[in-house]
Amino acid sequence: MTIKGSCACGSVRFAIEGTPSGLGTCHCSRCRKLGSSSIIFIKREQFSLLEGEGHIETIQPRAPYTYTRSFCRSCGTALGEPLSPDKSFPINAQCLDSDPGIAHSFHEFSEDRPVWDAPLDILRDIHSTPGEPIQ
Ligand SMILES: [Zn+2]
Ligand SMILES: [Zn+2]
Repeated sequence: MTIKGSCACGSVRFAIEGTPSGLGTCHCSRCRKLGSSSIIFIKREQFSLLEGEGHIETIQPRAPYTYTRSFCRSCGTALGEPLSPDKSFPINAQCLDSDPGIAHSFHEFSEDRPVWDAPLDILRDIHSTPGEPIQ
């Protein structure tokens, strides 16, 4: 199974072969503000950057943080760590264009989750029917 992914403008495109190691959400303020709370973990050999390496900007963390973060310099989409030299690294799950084939398996720092961030399935989806006017 090939999982495709891209940034919002399409400059950065990637493919993942096989099943990711995990899918989780971090509720800490840093991940939320950087726009990459939900991440999939993949192994280096599963990942192919198809296009856009020159569009990827990487932010080095300030202590005490240790993880770098990358984004598309054209559209600002948070990408996770696609240029990481590590054997396993995170990719922003929001960048996926196809089903990763796994369900959410963990979340962390749930004490930092904002009070408004409740499960959304109980809410009315105001755009589920295209063209229907909002009341
Ligand atoms: Zn982009
Ligand atoms: Zn976090």
